[in-house]
Amino acid sequence: MNMITQKPVCVTGASGFIAAEIIKALLLKGYRVRGTVRKSPDAYPFLASLDGAVDRLELVEADLLKSGSYKQAVKGCEYVLHTASPYIINVKNSQRDLVEPAVRGTQEVMEACLFAGGVKRVVLTSSIAAVTDQPDSSVIYTEKEWNRLSSLKRNPYHYSKTLAEQAAWKFIKEKNPGFDLIAINPALVTGPSLAPSLNTSNQLIRDIMIGVFPMIMDVNWGFVDIRDTARAHILAMETPAAQGRYLCSAETMNLAELVRFLKMEGYDGYSLPKINLSGKAGTLLMKLLSYSQPKDTGTFIRTHVGRLLQIDNSKIRKDFGMTFMPIKKSILEAVRDMIAWGHLSGPKT
Ligand code: NDP
Repeated sequence: MNMITQKPVCVTGASGFIAAEIIKALLLKGYRVRGTVRKSPDAYPFLASLDGAVDRLELVEADLLKSGSYKQAVKGCEYVLHTASPYIINVKNSQRDLVEPAVRGTQEVMEACLFAGGVKRVVLTSSIAAVTDQPDSSVIYTEKEWNRLSSLKRNPYHYSKTLAEQAAWKFIKEKNPGFDLIAINPALVTGPSLAPSLNTSNQLIRDIMIGVFPMIMDVNWGFVDIRDTARAHILAMETPAAQGRYLCSAETMNLAELVRFLKMEGYDGYSLPKINLSGKAGTLLMKLLSYSQPKDTGTFIRTHVGRLLQIDNSKIRKDFGMTFMPIKKSILEAVRDMIAWGHLSGPKT
């Protein structure tokens, strides 16, 4: 599709795993991009070196917790892709560290868009976390489902994403701002990272490989490749008929299959989990053992173990013509990339 705007596309949280990939793809398509960052714009050489960045990428400072911070960033933009939000599983203070920046930040960005005038659409990076935090094995999740169980004490990251997405829809309903909202709800995003930091989702794969979880438990995740996730955001921006939420998940895979696959690919020299606790008795034991994990990891295990997550991705495939990279390919690329960045030691020879 041809470019739908000559004006800069604002991408919040430009330093992040997902945002950096979105920016790369936007620049490749010829768009001008204005990314928001928290530190000095000079601190992001991996963004400055992207193809097209010299002429068409501008970085401006903004913080989700600073009032009015995004006014300058969205000025003159027709499309705003709001990805910035803390993606951390174990925090000291759930309200301060997760909910506050996620919700207040989303409201700040929406207010800034209203104030600027001229914004046509906001694409919000929500999450599968806003859909469920305790999958019901008999349900195939669609865009209709909402996470109604999380709280400050129970899966607080999921809570922050749910409240932030709800705040965005409430803003549209109550303020009728003259722009529309599309939410992209990705599952666990994997694949190579442009940013040198290790993202929480790839970290899960690393943790599985370095023995953080010594047991194979009955847990499965939805996965989606980082490049597909970026493409979904851009298609949400470019597709006039897009509407509402879009679950963005390629496939689901359970831990046993993931471990088998990594072994088969030659990563058996790593500390992959060996003890099989994926049966019914194992699930009970895993629930007990989960109390030895950091608090929020423990809650995650208790609300997910023994449950099947099934995600219907037909809406995004139909409305955007999305196709997805096989997730095993993406996971392999993530592993190689983590080794290249030094997040994971190389295979022992
Ligand atoms: P990253 O941690 O890589 O990126 C998060 C971004 O948010 C960073 O740019 C970070 O800036 C910014 N940010 C955090 N707090 C603030 C703040 N107070 N003010 C301004 N910016 C802030 O995570 P991802 O790229 O993975 O996540 C991006 C979005 O995607 C998030 O909304 C996340 O919830 C969502 N998501 C991610 C999934 C995944 O598997 N990765 C799956 C589903 C949804 P800084 O670099 O300065 O810390």
